[in-house]
Amino acid sequence: MPIYLDYNATAPMRPEVRDLVIRVMEGVGNGSSVHAYGRAARKYIEDARAQVADLCVATPEQVTFTSGATESINTVLHHFRGKRILVSSIEHPAVLQSAPDSEQIPVTTNGVIDLNALEALLKAEPTALVCVMLVNSETGVIQPVAEAAQLAHDHGALLFVDAVQAAGRINISLNKLGADYMALSAHKMAGPQGVGALITKSGLETPRFMLGGGQEKNCRAGTHNTAGIAGMGLAAQIAKDSITHYDETITKMRDDMEEKIRALTNGIKIYGDHMPRVGNTSNIGLHGVPAQTQMMALDLDGIAVSSGSACSSGSFKPSHVLTAMGADESEAKSALRISMGWNTTQHDIDTFLNSYTKIIKRTQA
Ligand code: PLP
Repeated sequence: MPIYLDYNATAPMRPEVRDLVIRVMEGVGNGSSVHAYGRAARKYIEDARAQVADLCVATPEQVTFTSGATESINTVLHHFRGKRILVSSIEHPAVLQSAPDSEQIPVTTNGVIDLNALEALLKAEPTALVCVMLVNSETGVIQPVAEAAQLAHDHGALLFVDAVQAAGRINISLNKLGADYMALSAHKMAGPQGVGALITKSGLETPRFMLGGGQEKNCRAGTHNTAGIAGMGLAAQIAKDSITHYDETITKMRDDMEEKIRALTNGIKIYGDHMPRVGNTSNIGLHGVPAQTQMMALDLDGIAVSSGSACSSGSFKPSHVLTAMGADESEAKSALRISMGWNTTQHDIDTFLNSYTKIIKRTQA
């Protein structure tokens, strides 16, 4: 049986979510039509809106459905183009590339944004928007978003939070975090791919990016992806209800796995291990062994993990997250991300450990 340990890339859909998506797809109806078919589709959409709102302690009116977090991010950053934007240096490429003229907030070697540096940047010049993700996708490190929001607001800026990797792993409250805008993605919380949401603070105008129709109260044009949205709603509800499972089961499996790996060799570095992290993610550098070599060996044993490095024109670029944390090129290119989720079992982790031990023995003999 193949073993999937790449939940931060995308999570397998939960069976009950898949069943709902299929059921909705088997029907017909445009959520904007007034007849019975349209009303049935609209009900799925509005039920999902309430479920997504509940996940982040917001109201349904604050939720706008999009085609994914990338669109939500582009929507907000496009709205602020031409204005001063500060982004953490470990944001997802969707943030970094949608705000090419932004200035970067550095992170410490532990992978947490440097709040003193943020304050200095805010003091230096008026700023319109600050972008800080809630959980980093590569290290799982939880960022001090509430503190960043306070600093941003004290200096007249708004705060955008990419909460994609936090959903279902830690509790999210838009207001407690002080977020003005938040992006969510369904497929990272065991929902379908190609659907996401933008949550806007109450009283703030939702930015418009996709133009052409009156859907989503004129804020996001385009026929609703009814099946995807229904699936996202159910996935959000289950994600919220499953946080205790994350805390208790998955975090323990991850911590035990890291302890066993530490006992195998001194030649490893676990990125962000001294910081609060979500329980499903482990980013492990194996000194001197390229991540591609490790991934290929694991793949031969039927195990799917990820490396933070991006492949471009046939060569691998080191992870911008790890280099922002001070890793040199060779260190950043030898790190693997193991990310677990709702369907991960101890057997999966034991199989990974056996395979990883073989790699260590082969390369460090
Ligand atoms: N933000 C983070 C932190 C992510 O991990 C991802 C997905 O890789 C995205 C944004 C983009 O999400 P989507 O696939 O919904 O466009």
